[in-house]
This record gives sequence, structure tokens and C-alpha cells, in this order.
Amino acid sequence: MSTRPAAVSVSLLLLAVAVPARAEDFAPVDKDAFAKLFPEGAKVEKVAGGMKFTEGPVWVPAERGGMLLFSDIPADEIKRWTPAEGLAVFRSPSRGANGNASDLQGRLITCEHRSRSVVRNDVDGKLRTLADAYNGRKLNSPNDAAVRSDGSVWFTDPPYGLEGRDKEQRGNYVFRLDPETRDLKAVIVEIQWPNGICFSPDESVLYVANSDIGNAVIYATPFKKDGTLGTPQPRFKVDKGAPDGIRCDADGRVWSSAGDGVQVFAPDGKLLGKVLVPEQPANLCFGGDDGKTLFITARTSLYAIKTNVTAAKPAAAPKAP
Ligand code: MG
Repeated sequence: MSTRPAAVSVSLLLLAVAVPARAEDFAPVDKDAFAKLFPEGAKVEKVAGGMKFTEGPVWVPAERGGMLLFSDIPADEIKRWTPAEGLAVFRSPSRGANGNASDLQGRLITCEHRSRSVVRNDVDGKLRTLADAYNGRKLNSPNDAAVRSDGSVWFTDPPYGLEGRDKEQRGNYVFRLDPETRDLKAVIVEIQWPNGICFSPDESVLYVANSDIGNAVIYATPFKKDGTLGTPQPRFKVDKGAPDGIRCDADGRVWSSAGDGVQVFAPDGKLLGKVLVPEQPANLCFGGDDGKTLFITARTSLYAIKTNVTAAKPAAAPKAP
């Protein structure tokens, strides 16, 4: 288990300069509202290719190195990408890493399929297991995670990464994890195929994607006054394929991976338009120096497009370490 911060030669062939993808990159629905989200000349650019199945992107801010980290699940790698150095291996083996998130101290939180756990990559380079069992049974295969402003880690646990191993959990739950005490609570049990996960900008609502073509919706679950979650309500309907990774922008719009690209929704559920991507996206995140580049992991490639928005950030200041 090693962490290799420097670029490695195996990736030299993948140091592709961004090339314009295609002219027809947008399918607006609400033309005015959608056009405001992108600067003039914005286009879908292929940043890197030649991978197997890319997932779980997260932008690490400048004070922590200014890089994109994402998973290539079948390659058993977490990749890093920077504009200056291109593509390199960040961690291999990754134990089937899928979703990644950054905690309030900038440490990498990773959902691993093969170890059936959620781990944290600490500043000393060591991986620490934060969760691998619930009620004495192994987790299914943690898929994606989001960090709240109180430092808690919220993650989904569908069975997609079991690959023939026995399922021990009785369902596919959404969990809240306290990384300090390791306390783990199942907070949503009624979403059948929970996958992508994010919070509204004020953290009053938890969004969870249901990856089911027959019920391709993103559920909105409001927090009650006592801090517990209410009942999940379907709010966003993906009209092609099913949602996987989702992200909320600072104005509360929800950006979702879909069968034809990235679908962008107003907070009330209205589809504003689509970013069409040559390969089917599985996940996305905002990043780059100004935080306004949307990075899209789509099958064998990494794509990017400039936007006018930034990611929703945890509402409160980080706790002192
Ligand atoms: Mg996912």
C-alpha cells in the first residue's frame, strides 16, 4: 500500500493536452437559466483517456497541492491529475476505490469496494479504516461519500462492488459516520439503490441518487429541527439512464451524471439542461484554481468544462484540529 506523490512514467502517454471534443456539447431546456452557467466558448474537453472505468473525482485545493484525485476502479488505482504534470498514480493498489471526498482538514476519504470499507488517507500517509461493518456485519461495498460541516462522513452502501461475495447487510443503506468515535448509523434505509450523495449549500437537505433505470431519481431528504433526517422524497428525475455521482453547486442546483451526460437541475427539481459528454459519465466534481471547472469521470476518460459556478461548500468553518 503506497502513496506515490510524483508523476510516474507509465502515465506519460496519457499526458494529453486538452482537445476540443465536439461542438454540440449542450442540450438546454431552460435556455436563459442554463446559458448563465457557462462562460462564452465553454466546451467539453477530453483531459485524459486510456483508462478502464473512472469514478469518484475530488478536487484537492491549492493549499493541499491543487490536484484532481479520482479512481480507476478496474485498474485498482487512484489517479492524480494536475494541469502542469498531467496524469499520475496517486495510490495503487486502491483496494477497488470508488468515491472520494475531502474532509474538513483536506484529508482524502475513500470508499473502497474490495475492502468493503471507508478509509481516510492521513497526513502521515497511513490509511485508517473509519468504517467496515455495521451491526456486526460487513458493509456491502461503500460507493460514494460527502462530508458535512460538523466533520461527519455520509456514505452510500449499495452492493455493486461485491463481485460474488456474500452480502451481509440486510439492505442498501445510507450511513452517517462520526470519524472521531467511529459511531455508524443507518440514516436512510428506504432508497433501493443509493449511490451519489451530496448536501444542499445550507446543509438542510441531503441528496441521494437512486441508480435504477426504472426509478432514475435523486431523492431529497430534509433535516428536521432535531437534526435527524425526515422522509426521502423524489425530486430530480434523470430522463436518460440513471443517476450515479451528483454534486450541488453554491446556488443549490444539482448536477447529476446521466446516460447522455451531465443533467443540471434547479433546486426545485426542474431540469435546466444537459452537458452532453462523448462517454457516459459516472461522476463529477467542481475544481480547478478558481473552483469553476467541472471535471467529469466518464468510462475510459476524464473530461472537463469551464462553468460560472462553484461547488457548495460546508456551511460552517472547520473545527480546530
Ligand atoms: Mg457511484
